This record gives sequence, structure tokens and C-alpha cells, in this order.
Amino acid sequence: MLSKLIFFILLGLLLFVLWQKKRVARIRREEPVKKVPEAKKMVQCPICGVHFAEVDGVWYNGKMYCSGQCADKAKARS
Ligand SMILES: [Zn+2]
Repeated sequence: MLSKLIFFILLGLLLFVLWQKKRVARIRREEPVKKVPEAKKMVQCPICGVHFAEVDGVWYNGKMYCSGQCADKAKARS
């Protein structure tokens, strides 16, 4: 009776450990995939010449600027 109980506890533990390993392996596999969209394309600001990541840029009149301040300068110039 007791040995059966111990057997089932051990079986449960084994399944739990295997499930954890699978989960960790899956998370590790997903990591490089997540990094791909984060790969930042660098763009040069036409106002101050600073290089910045495209995702951080501010669009104004079809051009991308490093910040709202540079976009404002472009607005003032035009
Ligand atoms: Zn700028």
C-alpha cells in the first residue's frame, strides 16, 4: 500500500521534472525568435546627424527624425 503511494509520488515528480525541462527548452528556443524583430535598423537624423534606432524615430513629412525636437526644427525650417 505504502510502496504504491511512493511509486505514484515518484512518477508524479518524474513527470513534473520532464514537463519543466520541456518548458525550459521551449522558452530557450523562443528567445532567439523574439530577438529578431528587435533587431534595430539604424537611421541618421537629417537635422542633427545622430544615428538612432528606427523604432525610436519620429516621422514628420515623410522623413524620420531622432526626436520630436528635431521634427519641430524641420517644421520650423519648412
Ligand atoms: Zn536629430
